[in-house]
Amino acid sequence: MRVLVTGGAGFIGSHLVEALLARGDSVAVLDDLSTGRAENLAAVLDHPRLAFLRADVRDTARCAACVEEADALFHLAAHVGVRRILAHTLESLLNNVQATAALLEQAARRKRRVILFSSSEVYGKGRGGVLEESDDLVLGAPGVARWSYGTGKALDETLALAWHRERGLPVTVVRCFNTCGPRQTDRYGMVLPTFIRQALGGSPLTVFGDGGQTRCFSHVGDVVRGTLMLLAAPGSIGEVFNVGNDEEIAIGALAERIVALTGSRSPIVRVPYAHALGGGFEDVRRRVPSLAKIRAFVGYEPRVGLEELLRLTIAAARAEGDEREPRTPGAALPAGGRAP
Ligand code: UDP
Repeated sequence: MRVLVTGGAGFIGSHLVEALLARGDSVAVLDDLSTGRAENLAAVLDHPRLAFLRADVRDTARCAACVEEADALFHLAAHVGVRRILAHTLESLLNNVQATAALLEQAARRKRRVILFSSSEVYGKGRGGVLEESDDLVLGAPGVARWSYGTGKALDETLALAWHRERGLPVTVVRCFNTCGPRQTDRYGMVLPTFIRQALGGSPLTVFGDGGQTRCFSHVGDVVRGTLMLLAAPGSIGEVFNVGNDEEIAIGALAERIVALTGSRSPIVRVPYAHALGGGFEDVRRRVPSLAKIRAFVGYEPRVGLEELLRLTIAAARAEGDEREPRTPGAALPAGGRAP
């Protein structure tokens, strides 16, 4: 297959590109390197079946040429990370929504197969239970900047499904749950690479709030495998799927596991949300995917449990010598973290 991967130089994108090349596909990467890094593709940059184009998905002419050449497209290009979204809400929201709208239109004109990467963030606060694809979205108020990312992704999904229903676009939506693994940067505030950097660097692990909030961390290899299974399943067209792992852990307990696994002497400190992320910040208290749908459609099961995910990611961070100086929590954020 000839596959276009937007955001292919990003964390998940680069792992996907490697998997596509390994199974014999030709891959074109479209990435503006705003949050992606060419180094993420270092292992495959010289591959004869890889073409890399540095461009914005909103550059219609270049995007159209890439879509024309492709049999299938994976759309991952997006500004990500709670910290970045709080600091650059407008820019991130415009970028994410406009890029997706442009790409879907190009793909629909040519009836190309699309896998749209969405996020568990669309569930918002949830209702406290396990999250199913047909659930209502419980997004917070538009004035709270944190929800802008999930709101944008929900709009992306709505557009994709409308293109499918009304114009026959063969699209599948995947909602990723806290995807982690080697090459994920801590620059945008994601908790797992942040804790690992802190533990390896001997600085305090910063647990926000009371540490009782929970997440399910999935290995990027599982997410890539799940999406490739969905690509191959015609029955997945026009459907939305959770992908990830359903092993739940509280953030305070995660910090303890990372300290133990790294043998770090770092203390674990509690940082009030208001100090870390600005007053008015709202967190997701519990986030656990139901994997029943993806299991039923394509037989997906996560293979990498939390313990192994942590070991692999710590080993990769060590290999990268990723022991930089810690940054002050809350640095580079606007006061309040709340949109005006
Ligand atoms: N978190 C934390 N310390 C950090 C970064 C994040 O305690 O240094 C918490 C954050 O408040 C949230 C959880 O870890 O409850 C996951 O945060 P992340 O930004 O990785 O992902 P998301 O909130 O989008 O699931």
